[in-house]
Amino acid sequence: MSTSVNGAGVAIVSEAVCEQIVGRPEAFKAVESVFGAMARGDAYNFPVVREAIGHADALYGFKSGFDRAGMVLGVKSGGYWPGNVQKDLTNHQSTVILFDPDTGRLKALVGGNYLTAVRTAAASAVSIAYLARKDAKVLGMVGAGHQSTFQLRAALEQRAFEKVVAWNPHPEYLSRLAAVCDELRVPFEAVDQQQLGAQADVIITITSAFEPLMMKEWIKPGTHIACMGTDTKGKQEVDPELLAAATLFTDEVAQSISIGEAQHAVASGLISESDITPIGEVINGTHPGRRDDQEITLFDGTGVGLQDLAVASAAANLALEQGLALRIAL
Ligand code: NAD
Repeated sequence: MSTSVNGAGVAIVSEAVCEQIVGRPEAFKAVESVFGAMARGDAYNFPVVREAIGHADALYGFKSGFDRAGMVLGVKSGGYWPGNVQKDLTNHQSTVILFDPDTGRLKALVGGNYLTAVRTAAASAVSIAYLARKDAKVLGMVGAGHQSTFQLRAALEQRAFEKVVAWNPHPEYLSRLAAVCDELRVPFEAVDQQQLGAQADVIITITSAFEPLMMKEWIKPGTHIACMGTDTKGKQEVDPELLAAATLFTDEVAQSISIGEAQHAVASGLISESDITPIGEVINGTHPGRRDDQEITLFDGTGVGLQDLAVASAAANLALEQGLALRIAL
């Protein structure tokens, strides 16, 4: 049996195998590398399709792209089925399909649910690694849903954080974050939004909000904020004035201004597209990133298809190397 993703047959990599073999370091490396490739013009995302299908209240779509540097071509397909929770299934469902860029042949089918969570956590972790102050001590979490514990674990590995403060519109979910902090022996405190801004050196927002949850005047100079929840038109997590005051970075500028957190500040004329830098430029060393300890940096993490393809490709390669992929001829 071939152990190469370019070998004969289609590799099938299950959700369970993805969980077993793609950890935070692998996801971080894949996402960091593809952000760098995007900023060099070596990798690009194709237009996103997202449609209400008129059945089961579902939103279904595709995110696809090509990374010429990593030779990864493919599509993540899936969406949101709100009724799944009653069926004991995750509401967000996705599968990644990888193709051979040289021939167009189907190479791999990879479960995308767990990988979406780790690639999203890796994006905010990459932003912290490159943009937060080195002496950051307090991590602030806004949001306590499914994604939040993934973001928390990945963020805690980026700096010597001594405390986590958290706020969520539904306080009953905060116990999830407290449990992770307990496990990792990091002090945890539930606070209100103003206290969170006053204490945190790094803030991650990961909610489904449609209105600002954090105001500019609550944020300390020198804070790094990763806004990760806004991935659709109309969603919003922070005050547009905060974007006007911050140095702005994103995964992809086109998504940041259309479906990301920057959509509102752009629409109200507070900032323009040219104020936003792809984080890949910082990764590649063509932008200095944070300039001083007083600057507020903000990463608008909108979630691009190339992130999904990057982690799925890592999963397929690792699964084949370790004999964990099912291989079938099509
Ligand atoms: P979830 O449904 O498990 O949790 C939702 C979170 O938002 C909870 O903290 C909840 O209390 C809060 N919330 C719900 N409704 C709200 C409202 N009206 N106002 C304010 N807060 C509200 O979702 P999740 O899987 O944790 O995802 C959180 C967000 O992140 C979603 O918006 C999701 O679309 C987005 N997301 C973004 C990316 C990306 O790449 N940027 C990837 C995955 C998920």
